[in-house]
Amino acid sequence: MNNGVGAKKILIVEDEPKLASLLNDYLVQSGFYAHRLSNGLEVIPWIKDNPIDLILLDLMLPGKDGIDICCDLRRFSNIPIIMTTARVEEIDRLLGLELGADDYVCKPYSPREVVARVKAIFRRIDSVGKSGESDKVFSVDAERMEIKFTGVLLDLTAVEFRLLASLIKQPGRLFSRDQLLDQIYEDNRIVTTRTVDSHIKNIRKKLSGISSALDPIVSVYGVGYKIEW
Ligand code: CA
Repeated sequence: MNNGVGAKKILIVEDEPKLASLLNDYLVQSGFYAHRLSNGLEVIPWIKDNPIDLILLDLMLPGKDGIDICCDLRRFSNIPIIMTTARVEEIDRLLGLELGADDYVCKPYSPREVVARVKAIFRRIDSVGKSGESDKVFSVDAERMEIKFTGVLLDLTAVEFRLLASLIKQPGRLFSRDQLLDQIYEDNRIVTTRTVDSHIKNIRKKLSGISSALDPIVSVYGVGYKIEW
């Protein structure tokens, strides 16, 4: 097992022992530290005692299913979650439930693919730099309410800043319009989810004015938005 200092820690929640062991081997070979749990009831208590960097979460589990675990986890943690399911048609339903998972992978999958998805999530998280790091795609200065895109300062309104900063904070995570509204308006003013669409449209225009090659905001039809690069 790789216990190297600095290795990202991944929790594999999977009740098929062979699959769990295969995933474990691939992750360890790729330089990650991995821990396995097979019963859904063990997950939340374990995570509270053991800080980790990402969870691979199976949907169908004994004890407690992946949906319930995901909802419980999101009450206290923003840790990246990749949900795995045996049914491709489940994915649409899961997206609709707005669980706050970061990615979904359908079984049967190749462990190589899962490792690639894991790396993609860490790459996106690591590429959100602090202000002043001009080689980053995005850099956020929360105090000044400034965001740089490919090193160039964006001219954003306060609402646009909050919206974009929320998306950047959790790259790859799909947000519904309602979730984004909660992030951008502190008061209870009457706004509709259409408001989010028009702010996103303006942000996109500003981003493409700086780099038309990168189009990092992804809209998922009927669900909402996420950011990826
Ligand atoms: Ca299962």
